Amino acid sequence: MFGPDDASAAGVAAAGRGDTVAGTVAPAGAASGQLRRTGLPAVEDLARVIPPQEVRRRGPVAVFECFERIPCDPCYWSCKRGAVKPFGDINDLPEVDWERCNGCGLCVAACPGLAIFVVHEGYTDTTSLIKLPYEFLPLPEVGQVVGALDREGTRVGEARVVRVQKPREKVGTPVVWIEVERDLAHVVRNIAVAGGERGE
Ligand code: SF4
Ligand code: SF4
Repeated sequence: MFGPDDASAAGVAAAGRGDTVAGTVAPAGAASGQLRRTGLPAVEDLARVIPPQEVRRRGPVAVFECFERIPCDPCYWSCKRGAVKPFGDINDLPEVDWERCNGCGLCVAACPGLAIFVVHEGYTDTTSLIKLPYEFLPLPEVGQVVGALDREGTRVGEARVVRVQKPREKVGTPVVWIEVERDLAHVVRNIAVAGGERGE
């Protein structure tokens, strides 16, 4: 499992390989065997997309867990700050300029692959904030305590719902803001809401 120490290690590892340049993630690189076999990213895959620690601690920032070259670019068009670099080829993996990203989450709602998350480590002294896409019904309520799930769907703790953003004119995916234990910032990627089922 990808834990908090791994998050730091991942950022350092990425910088050490030269993948992280001037606050910009360069996602090019071979997918791990685990990612190819299971669809679940390994630490080395995440190392390419998780910002360096100083960026993660500064405030909310987008984490693009997009690893497959497919013809898709709504993330580019949704970002009003130019933080997603123009695609040379629509099959390119997105590249993010973390210095421009303010964690607004517009790209989270726009991504059809549900591959983007906004993470704010240090939301409080003991918690992190995660903005995640959520396409199930019913949507949770603000203040509700829900299950916190990892990438495999395993419950790893609890999350408190901070905000629920519904898409305008039903275009895009609802974005749920959750507060989790600080060390779960790069572990939790879904929630379990009692009675939830996939929406239309
Ligand atoms: S979170 Fe906002 S600023 Fe950052 S990449 Fe996404 S749309 Fe752009
Ligand atoms: S919109 Fe989502 S799936 Fe499509 S390229 Fe961007 S991050 Fe990847």
